[in-house]
Amino acid sequence: MLVTISCTRPVGAEWPATDLGYLLHKNPSRRQTFEQSYGVAHVLYPEASDERCTAALLLEIDPVRLVRGKSKGTPDFSLGQYVNDRPYAASSLLSVAISTVFGTALHGRCAQRPELAGTALDLRIELPAVPCKGGPEYAERVFAPLGWTVAATPLPLDPAFPEWGDSHYLRLELTGVLRLAEALTHLYVLLPVLDGSKHYWLDTAEIDKLLRFGEGWLTAHPEREWITRRYLTRRHTLVRTALARLAELDDQDPEELGALEHDYDDEGPGTETTVPQPVESGERAPSLAVLRRAAVHRALLTEGASRVLDLGCGQGALLLELAADRALTEIVGVDVSMRELKIAARRVRRLPEWQARRVTVRQGALTYTDASLRGYDAAVLMEVIEHVDATRLKALEQAVFGAAAPGTVVVTTPNSEFNVRYDGLDAGAFRHSDHRFEWTRAEFADWAHRVGATHGYAVRFEPVGPEDAEVGASTQMAVFTRKNNDDDAAKGAA
Ligand code: SAH
Repeated sequence: MLVTISCTRPVGAEWPATDLGYLLHKNPSRRQTFEQSYGVAHVLYPEASDERCTAALLLEIDPVRLVRGKSKGTPDFSLGQYVNDRPYAASSLLSVAISTVFGTALHGRCAQRPELAGTALDLRIELPAVPCKGGPEYAERVFAPLGWTVAATPLPLDPAFPEWGDSHYLRLELTGVLRLAEALTHLYVLLPVLDGSKHYWLDTAEIDKLLRFGEGWLTAHPEREWITRRYLTRRHTLVRTALARLAELDDQDPEELGALEHDYDDEGPGTETTVPQPVESGERAPSLAVLRRAAVHRALLTEGASRVLDLGCGQGALLLELAADRALTEIVGVDVSMRELKIAARRVRRLPEWQARRVTVRQGALTYTDASLRGYDAAVLMEVIEHVDATRLKALEQAVFGAAAPGTVVVTTPNSEFNVRYDGLDAGAFRHSDHRFEWTRAEFADWAHRVGATHGYAVRFEPVGPEDAEVGASTQMAVFTRKNNDDDAAKGAA
């Protein structure tokens, strides 16, 4: 596996192209070797003149070590455990080698030539074999917006049999005027993205890496969602968190990025889809989060509510939607997380004044009775109960249905039966790392009937999102209506 990085001295520049060696912290006159966990990395300079200097990183992968190095949860290359493309193709192994061998350069540091580290150079990067199932246009779509001129040439499956057609490997040549650190971060993030797999187990630290090395270019990248999903190899919870954090970096609504409940199919960039649904007229279908807010909003109107609580309001997406509805006169968002509330408050402040003045947000823990929550027409618990420990759920039921006792309570929660329809979701996994449980439709119905019976509410159920004949819809919603107002008014007065 090989990557070469060439730098050409600009016309009139005072420094020799071999100064690339300072930036890479590798002396052009020496060949160096670095032991890696899966093989050996060599750095050598096939070309080193004042005019042009080329550094080559050659990675020799030992497939046996790759198998031995596997820990629990490392993706199994199954049939191809010993025979696979990893020794030859530019993948996450090369990213790791870049970060260990060229770490200082990757971070943009250069003690000897700091000004050079900050200078855009005439660069040319060549990779003889980049795995890229989507073909050359994928390489173009991810590298071109970053300022690279991209030449991606598909490699034939076998040159001796041209009729077999092309393989899914490309020869990739990138030319552009960029800082070396930028170039290395692009390779570091995007090579595994094009490959679509990683040789190591992913955890939340991977999000930090993506944001650190994507700094300065990922938030503005037109394919940032696709890149994020592929970088995190479609691990649903990691992707969701990463997109939300990315959105925060440039202050966009995470939902506009489709951060919530995506179908993690292996579609290419620019072909984002949401949860499977009938495709109509080629328009982008609304995301599940949009459908969920609409369903909750509709239920509130059906019940004739005008003063409503959004309990566990999070970053306030529902508050914003409800604020635009003149039928609602008072909207209160409550959440335990100050961080989420700050974002919600900031978004509310940006609303037109007539909307903003009907909305308040405040901190509160729903597992404790709060007298100020009493007397509202309706309360919403949208995607909240599953964040509460099963042992604390009774306390929440008491605080909401028993003490606050609004006329209507709208509860939404994931339908765990639907999880098999999410490709990126491992069997038995939850949709969000903070979920304490996810219920089947029967489990939700049991809970809702018990809560209704205990606190005097009738309950009806509604699926949210496209319905699957076998597993139902992705979200389940229960609408509770209080049966006996007189009793509760008396309780309130007591
Ligand atoms: N309703 C929002 C947010 C759902 S995420 C939406 O659908 O977009 C769940 C939210 O519940 C988080 O913001 C979390 O901080 C909040 N939450 C969890 N447990 C809580 C508790 N005990 N009291 C108040 N808020 C809680």
